[in-house]
Amino acid sequence: MTTAIRPQPGIMDIALYQGGASHVAGLDNVIKLSSNENPLGPSDAAVKAFRDASYDLHRYPSSDHTALRQAIAQVHGLDADRIICGAGSDEIIAFLCQAFSGEGTEVLHTVHGFGMYRISALANGATPVEVPENERVTDVDALLAGCTDKTRLVFIANPNNPTGTMIGLSEIERLAAGIPKQAILVLDGAYAEYVEGYDGGAALVDSHDNIVMTRTFSKLYGLGGLRIGWGYAPAHIIDVLNRVRGPFNLSQAALNAATAAIKDTGYAAHCRSENAKWRSWMADALAEIGVPSDVSCANFILARFKSQDEAEACDEYLKTQGLIVRRVAGYQLPTCLRITVGDESACRRVVHAIRQFKGD
Ligand SMILES: *Cc1c(COP(=O)(O)O)cnc(C)c1O
Repeated sequence: MTTAIRPQPGIMDIALYQGGASHVAGLDNVIKLSSNENPLGPSDAAVKAFRDASYDLHRYPSSDHTALRQAIAQVHGLDADRIICGAGSDEIIAFLCQAFSGEGTEVLHTVHGFGMYRISALANGATPVEVPENERVTDVDALLAGCTDKTRLVFIANPNNPTGTMIGLSEIERLAAGIPKQAILVLDGAYAEYVEGYDGGAALVDSHDNIVMTRTFSKLYGLGGLRIGWGYAPAHIIDVLNRVRGPFNLSQAALNAATAAIKDTGYAAHCRSENAKWRSWMADALAEIGVPSDVSCANFILARFKSQDEAEACDEYLKTQGLIVRRVAGYQLPTCLRITVGDESACRRVVHAIRQFKGD
C-alpha cells in the first residue's frame, strides 16, 4: 500500500535512542551498569513522598511547580522564577530545540556528545552539526569554529556523557562570549552534582543573557524512573520555554518525590562520596590490568580497550558473568565500554570479571 502521509523533514533521519540494556537472556540477578543509575537508589524521603501522593491520583498536578522550584532554588541558591521543570532534562532539551531551532537553523554538539541533542534538533527540522573533541574533551575552539549565522543552540554536557571529562568555567565563559549573538549555550549538568564545589554553571547563567543550564533527578538523586529534570535560564528564555511546556507535564507524585529528594542533602552528599570512592577504586584497578580511562567527573568511567574487537569480546564475556555495561560505538567510541559506578560489590565483580577476561 502506498500512502501520501509523510512526516516532517528530519524525522526519518532520527536513529532511535539506544538505552542501556537491562537483561541477559537466561540469567536473572544481573547487575546493570549500563544506564548511569544511582546504585543506592533514591532517598527514603522521596519514596515516602511518592507513596503518599497515591492518595490523590484523581487530582491534576500543580501546573506551575512552585513547591519544587522553590526547593531547588533554596538548595542551590537560585532564583525560583527562572527555573523550569520537565519530564527529565530530556524534555528541557526538547523545549529548547522546539522554541529556538527549526528548519534552516543549526544545532551544535560535539562528536561524543549526548545523543538527545541530535534527536531533538532533527525532531524540529533543524540541522545538527557535530564538531570534534580534543582527545575526548570538549574543544571550545572547535565549537567556535563550527558556529555560523544559522547556529541557534550550542549543547555541551559538563561533565560529558559518555566521556566523563569536563572543562573549566573560564573555558565555558570563552565559549559563551564567542558564539554568535543569536545563539544559546546550553550547559547540560546531568552529572554536575557529582563534582564537589561545581555549580553546574548556575552563576554563569546569572551573569549572561545566552546561557541555559539543565539538571536532572535521574542520576545522583536516583529517580530516573520518575522522569524529572529542570532548567535554569535568563527570564526572557524561561518565558519562551513556559509557552511550549504542557501545563501538566509532571505528575504530582514526581513533583513531590523530587521535592523531598532535593531537600535530603545529607543523602545526596552520601551518594556523591560513595560514588567518588568506588569510581577511583574501579579506575585504578582497571588501569592496573591494562584498561585505562580518562579521569571521570561523573558516575561512570569510559574504559578503553586495545581494539573494537577486544571491547566487544569483553562486553560479551561480562554478559556471561551477569554484568551489563554499555557499548558506545554509537557515540563514535567503538574501542570503549562505559561502566557505571555501582556499589562496592558491583565494582568488585566487574573488575574481577575484566581481570579474568584480560587473563585469557
Ligand atoms: C542522563 C542524561 C540526561 C538526561 O536525563 P533525564 O533522565 O532526561 O533527565 C541528560 N544529559 C545527559 C548528558 C545525560 O547523561
